[in-house]
Amino acid sequence: MMEGALIVISGPSGAGKGTIYNSVMERMPENIRSISVTTREPRGSEQDGVEYFFKTEDQFNELVKNDGFLEYANVFGHYYGTPKKHVMDMMRLGKTVLLEIDVKGAAQIKSKFPSCVTIFIMPPSFKELERRLRGRGTDKEESIIKRLSEAKCELSQYKLFDYIVFNDDLSDAINDTVNIIRSERNRTLRNENKIKQLLEE
Ligand code: 5GP
Repeated sequence: MMEGALIVISGPSGAGKGTIYNSVMERMPENIRSISVTTREPRGSEQDGVEYFFKTEDQFNELVKNDGFLEYANVFGHYYGTPKKHVMDMMRLGKTVLLEIDVKGAAQIKSKFPSCVTIFIMPPSFKELERRLRGRGTDKEESIIKRLSEAKCELSQYKLFDYIVFNDDLSDAINDTVNIIRSERNRTLRNENKIKQLLEE
């Protein structure tokens, strides 16, 4: 097992994974963020290289051809991918890397790296998920219906995940996620180098 941990936060659209990801990063600034590549347009104040690397489909396909992604997927009509090099470099240095990606991407990473830790952020109910999707005000009716039916498919894949975090109370869900990451850091196999160093003192 590599000493660095790869933590994958995933779940249906509207479950709150983005909010949880950002809060966990604030609470654990030692963790490494991965900036994804996307073909969607920047929204609002988003900047290239901050929220995402914004690319054209041609540029994205070039990266796919050159094996530049750890995983990639089409999410509601746009491509998203995790650049491979940064994640691998950080893990080799023993860092904990956190990804926030869709369920298809999480499944790809789990099959390539079974030792990665996958966390599924679960909405408390479909009624509540629907309420949250409507509350965002960013999606049209058609898109809300699509997101809800996609969420049902994604939920049925829960067995791909090591942990399930129910997001009925946001601060509990953030605490649970932080605790999972801390416990993963404490796994014996991730601390072998440190123990060897201590024994040599
Ligand atoms: P948004 O466009 O709202 O920022 O993100 C849309 C969806 O894409 C979210 O579900 C987010 O988790 C997912 N996503 C963001 N980056 C990646 C990535 O690198 N790979 C995959 N598979 N999904 C991603």
